[in-house]
Amino acid sequence: MEFKPGRVFLLRVPEGEDLLEFVNRFAERKKIETAIVKGIGSLRNPVVGYYSEEIKAYKRIELFGTFELLTLLGNISIKDGQPFAHLHATLGNANGDVFGGHLITGEVFVAELYIQELLGEALIRKDRGNNLHLWDEERV
Ligand code: ZN
Repeated sequence: MEFKPGRVFLLRVPEGEDLLEFVNRFAERKKIETAIVKGIGSLRNPVVGYYSEEIKAYKRIELFGTFELLTLLGNISIKDGQPFAHLHATLGNANGDVFGGHLITGEVFVAELYIQELLGEALIRKDRGNNLHLWDEERV
């Protein structure tokens, strides 16, 4: 799929918001269908997922305490007719140990986001029968 650059947002998420819920709500309010999302900051009690091919589901990794959000990277596309953020997070603790995965929840202490809207045909997630909603593959 090919897109043209649209609006660019640089913003701070209010403290106490759930990061994933905020990004989904922001996309809905701003009528963003497709975007690249990047961010840094700090999250409280984040929960990330590891997708297991064996069980075809996400294993939950629950972290307790406040973690540096070293890197947030992901995208927004359309799932079930709504903008849907798919975000991965790299998180660091006070010792510099790093954890990460598919972002499920996390309360914002600080989050600075960069959202680059992309304009073009809607990019749609579809159920692939493995508990994953994925885009069509690009054939070349
Ligand atoms: Zn993921």
